Amino acid sequence: SIVVTGATGHLGRQIIEQLLARGATASDILAGGRNAAALQDLAALGVRTARIDYEDPATLDAAFADAEKILLISGSEVGRRVPQHAAVIDAARKVDATLVYTSAPGATTSTLVLAPEHKATEELLDASGLTHTVLRNSWYTENYDETIQQAITTGALLTSTGDGRIASAPRRDYAEAAAVVLLSEDHDGAVLELSGDHPWNFEELAATITEVSGREVRVDQLSTEDHLAALLSFGLDEGTAGFVTALDANIRDGLLAGADGTLSRLLGRPTTTLHQHVRTLLAE
Ligand code: NDP
Repeated sequence: SIVVTGATGHLGRQIIEQLLARGATASDILAGGRNAAALQDLAALGVRTARIDYEDPATLDAAFADAEKILLISGSEVGRRVPQHAAVIDAARKVDATLVYTSAPGATTSTLVLAPEHKATEELLDASGLTHTVLRNSWYTENYDETIQQAITTGALLTSTGDGRIASAPRRDYAEAAAVVLLSEDHDGAVLELSGDHPWNFEELAATITEVSGREVRVDQLSTEDHLAALLSFGLDEGTAGFVTALDANIRDGLLAGADGTLSRLLGRPTTTLHQHVRTLLAE
């Protein structure tokens, strides 16, 4: 079977949908999540479901019993992820399954604040001896959905990304790529840097929002320090504000600008543009 962990999350669910759309047999797919009740609608389609908690090895052994391929969706609890992913890799070794892992751009060499846990996981994968594929997913365009909606209300985009570009793509594109990889052996052993074809900066984001919505939007470019102070004054806690500004600094440094066309080649079509995404978002 093909096991998809984190199937209760945004990306995992879309990967199951893409596997089905590409002709996988529903009963060959096992969708796993901590809250199995949230998977009931998938069960109604014939997809097998199971409780999978990275912190509970017994759930991993049970779900992986007849797994040929396992998609490990990186956990969402930053700081806990290395032991969690290690537990998944250990369980996968017992059944010698092929592992596919969702990582981050340039994980092993990048100074991206999110890279260290992905780097550690990739090292565990290399040491495991298991056949594996690494999907180094760049940013989701959806990360800016709230920012876009707010900009339409306030007429302003607050950022400290400077002229840095973001090679984002909607989750749907990454989900389709994951399904392509899971349904073939062609990518075994590969490390794939997946990103949108057209990296954009905040000036382009503002122009796109204006074009699609008719609302004039300006960019307020701040220094990291001023951005941090502004976020704190809006009531954000220090941890979150520090994280947001550290990521903006990473973007300013070009760490999310990489766009080598691997994602569109896998999909056999161009990636979804920022303009297309904003149009869909605002039509909802
Ligand atoms: P979601 O937060 O929607 O989903 C995360 C999934 O991971 C959920 O199904 C969640 O389960 C599951 N999960 C978290 N911790 C555990 C655990 N201990 N045991 C089992 N399952 C667990 O994120 P997305 O689907 O949008 O993104 C997938 C992953 O990509 C994220 O988890 C994160 O690592 C990374 N990410 C990437 C971003 C990018 O821009 N590229 C942005 C944000 C995250 P549950 O439903 O029970 O919480």
